[in-house]
Amino acid sequence: MIIVFLGPPGSGKGTQAGILSREHHFRHFDAGSLLRTEVHSGSALGEEIAGYINEGRLVPINIIGRITHKFLAERQADRTMFDGFPRNLEQASLLTASLIELKQELSHVLYLHIDEDDLLQRIVNRRVCRSCKRIYNLVSNPPHENCSVTGMDCDLYQRDDDSEEVFGRRLRIYLEETVPILRYYEDAGKLRTIDADADIEDVSARIRDVLGMARNGQA
Ligand code: AMP
Repeated sequence: MIIVFLGPPGSGKGTQAGILSREHHFRHFDAGSLLRTEVHSGSALGEEIAGYINEGRLVPINIIGRITHKFLAERQADRTMFDGFPRNLEQASLLTASLIELKQELSHVLYLHIDEDDLLQRIVNRRVCRSCKRIYNLVSNPPHENCSVTGMDCDLYQRDDDSEEVFGRRLRIYLEETVPILRYYEDAGKLRTIDADADIEDVSARIRDVLGMARNGQA
């Protein structure tokens, strides 16, 4: 099964993808996280990537294409999910071509639908654990368990691009570049719209329903 998560920044893609990959053992392609890992490595490529991320712009196709190709070529899994990729029509075509080459088929595109007015509050209150990468929200989902890597309290930080200013640009790019691919996947019969304006658990349940999966990895 291959799935793609789509939705605006702050819609809960990363949170839901994390839950699904932990409970149902999906191989998780998290575009933003992979890019941030390159940035933290201090490489020249990382420095170039940081310029785009900090301004809320998409990194060029040659960079994201290389990272995607590496992920797909490394190994295949029964269950794979793409989170934060594709983000425009060019990337969607690239994914289609890569899957054809690997003789694999996209199962579902999960579009997390949420009112735009709620996004900013979600973004500015978002915190991420440096070690286990789990995503929290200071208001609606504060840390409630120890870090799965260190066993201690999660070491939370706020992403530089989770500011009000950068968020505005990220949302604009989402509307201009990512929204057109909803139509692309609707025409392909792959688009499943999920109402994401609900508690984390409720949204997870809606996703499991669409995928025909039971809770906690059964089925
Ligand atoms: P995210 O973690 O998904 O919110 O992504 C953070 C930032 O990483 C984005 O604002 C972009 O600068 C960059 N990024 C993530 N995914 C992609 C992608 N598929 N294509 C280009 N840039 C991306």
